[in-house]
Amino acid sequence: MKRIFSGIKPTGHLTLGNYLGAVRRWVEVDQHRADALFSVVDLHALTVEHDPARVRRLSRQAATLLLAAGLDPERCTVFVQSHVDEHARLSYLMECVATDGEMRRMIQYREKSGRAQASGQSVRLSLLTYPALMAADILAYGTDEVPVGEDQTQHVELTRDLAVRFNQRYGHVFTVPKATHPEVAARVMDLRDPTSKMGKSHENGAGIVYLLDDADAVRRKVMRAVTDSGREVVHDRAASPGVANLLDLLAAATGGDPAALAGGYASYGALKKDTAEAVVELLRPVRERHAELAADPGHVDEVLRLGAERARGMARPVVDRAYRAVGLMPAL
Ligand code: ATP
Ligand code: MG
Repeated sequence: MKRIFSGIKPTGHLTLGNYLGAVRRWVEVDQHRADALFSVVDLHALTVEHDPARVRRLSRQAATLLLAAGLDPERCTVFVQSHVDEHARLSYLMECVATDGEMRRMIQYREKSGRAQASGQSVRLSLLTYPALMAADILAYGTDEVPVGEDQTQHVELTRDLAVRFNQRYGHVFTVPKATHPEVAARVMDLRDPTSKMGKSHENGAGIVYLLDDADAVRRKVMRAVTDSGREVVHDRAASPGVANLLDLLAAATGGDPAALAGGYASYGALKKDTAEAVVELLRPVRERHAELAADPGHVDEVLRLGAERARGMARPVVDRAYRAVGLMPAL
């Protein structure tokens, strides 16, 4: 059976981008067709300035939302990254295989380090080495496929390069994984700034739909989405990114095709209205189920405890093999 791994960082509240780009597919497709692991990758949340209590809270909330969205612990493994030591153990070996140059080329490093510097913060070394940890997350499980949004393509490519390089140097240890993306909404854009990706850690939330937003907040944000000065509803990401984004959202929420849907609208207002209602209905069951689960934190804890135990059992033999392959002496 195929092995699938993917993760989500507790750097903010989960967004519609996270849901459409990743989580929904994990729920609807991936957990049914493979031996799948989904992780709240909390170590990655420490690469930027953070409040410890908030990271802890967001980790629990992210795990609860994954279950609310429909991940079934009977079918897949849901766990918190820092509960499984193998991630950090293997990350170091990945740092010994990767080069400084390839880390610096990562687009997300350039963007996020730029943002940190612009706000007067220093750039943490872990922000640079983050892709080594991400490679470890994936490779520790002999992963075949990594279902992610489009923004993660470059990191998964790097993971492949590192796996191949490691195997060539030290003998075959790692499966070489590949990224998979949803057909529609693989890159959801910020509603107020449709040339940048909707990201949960972005400060201005006006253009971000959060999974836990109530119906009125969703409507307000979608109705205030930036479009452009044109009139015609066409699906053209370059010329009309805001409108294309709305069409992508409507298509993702209703199962249609974005370009075909465009033909049915004579005004931006009507498109926004339908998109808002479709997103409200899409998120309603997730929000309702989240409220039920949040009332029973003991259940979520138990899922995460069992998940970590299972994940540890899968990762340990792979990471032990990697340690031996590079020449580290087995513990006596
Ligand atoms: P951050 O701003 O902290 O990077 P994020 O919203 O990008 O947060 P991640 O935890 O980095 O979230 O990513 C989790 C998953 O969600 C990844 O698979 C990523 O590709 C996907 N994802 C994130 N943002 C979007 C988006 N706007 N559209 C589609 N997929 C997305
Ligand atoms: Mg991200």
